[in-house]
Amino acid sequence: MKYVSTRGQSPALSFSEILLGGLAPDGGLYLPETYPQFNDADLTAMRGMNYRDLAFYILSRLIDDIPAIDLKAIINKTYRADVYSFTRSGQNAEDIAPVLKLENNLYLLSLSNGPTLAFKDMAMQLLGNLFEYVLAKKGETTNILGATSGDTGSAAEYAMRGKKGVRVFMLSPHKKMSRFQTAQMFSLQDDNIFNIAVKGVFDDAQDMVKAVSNDAAFKAKYKIGAVNSINWGRIVAQVVYYFKGYFAVTQNNAQKVDFAVPSGNFGNVCAGHIARMMGLPIDKLVVATNENDVLDEFFKTGVYRPRGSANTYHTSSPSMDISKASNFERFVFDLVGKDGTKVCELWASVDNGGAFDIKYLMPKLAEFGFVSGSSNHANRMQTIRETKARYGVVIDTHTADGLKVAFEYREKNTPMVVLETALPAKFEDAIMEALGQAPERPTSLYGIENLPQKFTVMNADIAAIKDFIAKNT
Ligand SMILES: *Cc1c(COP(=O)(O)O)cnc(C)c1O
Repeated sequence: MKYVSTRGQSPALSFSEILLGGLAPDGGLYLPETYPQFNDADLTAMRGMNYRDLAFYILSRLIDDIPAIDLKAIINKTYRADVYSFTRSGQNAEDIAPVLKLENNLYLLSLSNGPTLAFKDMAMQLLGNLFEYVLAKKGETTNILGATSGDTGSAAEYAMRGKKGVRVFMLSPHKKMSRFQTAQMFSLQDDNIFNIAVKGVFDDAQDMVKAVSNDAAFKAKYKIGAVNSINWGRIVAQVVYYFKGYFAVTQNNAQKVDFAVPSGNFGNVCAGHIARMMGLPIDKLVVATNENDVLDEFFKTGVYRPRGSANTYHTSSPSMDISKASNFERFVFDLVGKDGTKVCELWASVDNGGAFDIKYLMPKLAEFGFVSGSSNHANRMQTIRETKARYGVVIDTHTADGLKVAFEYREKNTPMVVLETALPAKFEDAIMEALGQAPERPTSLYGIENLPQKFTVMNADIAAIKDFIAKNT
């Protein structure tokens, strides 16, 4: 299995060769040359599998340069009940991604039972173990540099803590994350984790990361790596839970299922698209956005119009606050028939702050099952309240975005599975506002805000971060 770039100008590479990098040299994103196909017999074989065996069955078709026995060991080490232990009552942690039935044909797929209470753990934990393995094989090390407004940074740190050959330098806006998110990250005392609180907003932190990454000499000397949302290893890990969710709510392979996905950078729902392309009987993929509705606009009009950061809203589902959807290019590559030249042409305007219009492809769009919708703060509050009242279940703001749009597309006889992308404990203030009471927090995280914190405060200064990296490597 080789991987090609969506812009068609980079050499095809194997999985291990693309794992540690970000964009392809031509500026595109990597995708498998062809999607492996699962037929009815495959689906029948997979139906009874536990999460680990299912993950191996799927990933071994996409990763062919890690010996099967090693890949199996990496997967078994990653998807353990003790790592995904923050289950709701009645759920079995052994399921790793259990479903929660709300009512007939309406389910949540619990993807947030991992260490940082957000679905990003599902992929990041695998990435941590893959990085350690591949770096050891190559005799290399890496310094991961990233910027976070909360979820990505904590998932990356919990996945990489204590991993040999890996250091993490994570920039976050000083005093801008929730107290819980700050405590999650800053209480880590591991020697290979460096928390840097940047005096500024998230974009300042992001700009520092970009500036360092654009300095090719520094990047090479200090082996700067990334684990951002375009990393193929993250996407591939996310394909697995669509299969898990499908089998959990169906009895036979003739049944179809709809998935509703709270979306920002299009990573999560892109994995759903890939699962569908591999033969999973998905009917609709419901893309749910918040007020930052660049994706909703595209799926309704065929116009992709990224917003500048000045037109990006800070919302109560902050992990979906994006100006452009980084992984969207992967889907467009499939939409235009894997024509890299066409993708180059479309992104020539996007990369210069423009937009593109592919309305003429709207009929083709429907063939891929995508539909979309968006919500605002009032919708989220109402959905959280109604979900509590109707089902006795407290959901977080991102999941609320997903559920709100799911209701707009529900069909009577098709199970609708809403991806639960974070637990409510992570967004206490919003839950307080909606319900007048704080969400339940896992007992092991009581008082996390009172633990000693390890972090460095820094001005939004490129020289300062370079100096810090140089001193700590
Ligand atoms: C990252 C995140 C999302 C958005 O996922 P994408 O893959 O960027 O579309 C949604 N909800 C939560 C809680 C997240 O952390």
